[in-house]
Amino acid sequence: VEDKRSQELAQSLGELIGPQKVLAGPTTKTNYANDAYTVDHFPPLAVTLPETTEEVAKVVRWCNHHQIPFTPRGAGTGLSGGAMPALGGVVISTKKLTKILFIEPENSCLLAQAGVANLKLSQAVAQWGLHFAPDPSSQSVATLGGNIAENSGGPHTLKYGVTAPHILGLTFVDAKGDIQYLGGKVPGLPGYDLLSLMIGSEGTLGIVTEAWIKLTPLPEATETLLASFPSPAEACRTVSAIIRAGILPAALEMMDANILVAVKAAFSLDVIEGTGAMLLIETDGDPATAAQERDQILAICQEQGALKVELAANAEERAKLWTARKKGVGAMGRLAPTIVTHDGVIPPSRLPEMLEEVYRVADEAGVGVANLFHAGDGNLHPIFYFDSREPGKIEAVVEAGEKIIRRCLELGGSVTGEHGVGVEKAGLLEMMFDSPSLVLQKKGREIFHESELCNPCKIIPDARGCTEHKVRWRGAAT
Ligand SMILES: Cc1cc2nc3c(=O)[nH]c(=O)nc-3n(C[C@H](O)[C@H](O)[C@H](O)COP(=O)(O)OP(=O)(O)OC[C@H]3O[C@@H](n4cnc5c(N)ncnc54)[C@H](O)[C@@H]3O)c2cc1C
Repeated sequence: VEDKRSQELAQSLGELIGPQKVLAGPTTKTNYANDAYTVDHFPPLAVTLPETTEEVAKVVRWCNHHQIPFTPRGAGTGLSGGAMPALGGVVISTKKLTKILFIEPENSCLLAQAGVANLKLSQAVAQWGLHFAPDPSSQSVATLGGNIAENSGGPHTLKYGVTAPHILGLTFVDAKGDIQYLGGKVPGLPGYDLLSLMIGSEGTLGIVTEAWIKLTPLPEATETLLASFPSPAEACRTVSAIIRAGILPAALEMMDANILVAVKAAFSLDVIEGTGAMLLIETDGDPATAAQERDQILAICQEQGALKVELAANAEERAKLWTARKKGVGAMGRLAPTIVTHDGVIPPSRLPEMLEEVYRVADEAGVGVANLFHAGDGNLHPIFYFDSREPGKIEAVVEAGEKIIRRCLELGGSVTGEHGVGVEKAGLLEMMFDSPSLVLQKKGREIFHESELCNPCKIIPDARGCTEHKVRWRGAAT
């Protein structure tokens, strides 16, 4: 019955935007049933691939007319289930919205469609010595629309900030199918700052189709260090010491021993005997300042008991030092068939005790855990690895994640740093906000719409069917 309905919907949508821009069928349903948060999935009835803002608007109006939920999707690299169609319906993919429409190097800005991959934006303007500063580690595929929806960070967030300050204006299709504009080509337009409300709204307020982005000059010089420490404790102390010294590195990333085991196995990384953690640190700016900060950091690493500190002499060596950081998550496949990357934030000075808690909780849950994260921001990413086919393991991992988040909150942190709330943490916001604050957030959403159709069950799940979805995926349904 579902298949027949799916084919009927696909045909009707095909008449609307062209049959070549609509997918249905078993493979599509499997491929679009989840994002990179692989433990939660639900298949869509159909997937649309519009090429213009107007086509997105047509699909949204069609969904409203038929009362069918819809879910925006970029590259599907999200780690909290945001692009997972929790109640089925139609996935609106930005896969064909991949044009860079205008580049204005003289004004350091460009206008692009939402489906352009993050890295492509920087590549397109490198000839003018510019780049798009937000750089999630998924940047070779993650899209501009996904970055905006998640307000994504990345290794260089410590110095350059998350996505929000780099977005000047947006075109989006609201939940009813009307085309709307926020902000513009110049920053700080008057009126209420609805642009900020839209950024980080995880596709729950509408579908971004185009954005004016701010471009940042490429640094004149970059210095990269890779420091090995006997244990995470020394590495964490080094992070605090660098921040206390008043240095603002461009990147300050940490990898623990379990990540290094995976990367060593996959990419023959050279790891010195006795290494329990590594810090990848970058300084940038004018050549004299970048070199001076590098030397200060080198001295701090040595004072804090580093076993070895490597410096990159050129771009090739820099790329080599980044190997463990950039390829760490991919290498985790060597350790177990399922990985779930968690996300929380704490003040960086509390990292040592937080990491101890992460190892303890994983041990208690009977799953492996590796840590690869933006230490300078205190943005923790415990990566659980296990075999999801083993009974009870998914439940154990979900519970372990919740324990970690509870501890993050006790230490003055947040339930998520950069991966969003999605479905994964939709139930955890109550731990962080009191009821009037949550009501205010819901009212914020109502400025945009009161519909239950736009990416239901994400952030604040109040659509009918969200509870059933949660029960279903946790395997507790009868
Ligand atoms: C290996 C790996 C490394 C990662 N590293 C980082 C990192 O360093 N920093 C970081 O912040 N994140 C990171 N992520 C998470 C993820 O890549 C980011 O959240 C990214 O911005 C998602 O982009 P996407 O195009 O894949 O979006 P998707 O996963 O497709 O969607 C994410 C959310 O955005 C919504 N959405 C997508 N497009 C639109 C649109 N056009 N309009 C409205 N809503 C939309 C979706 O509905 C969903 O809620 C990583 C993920 C992986 C797998």
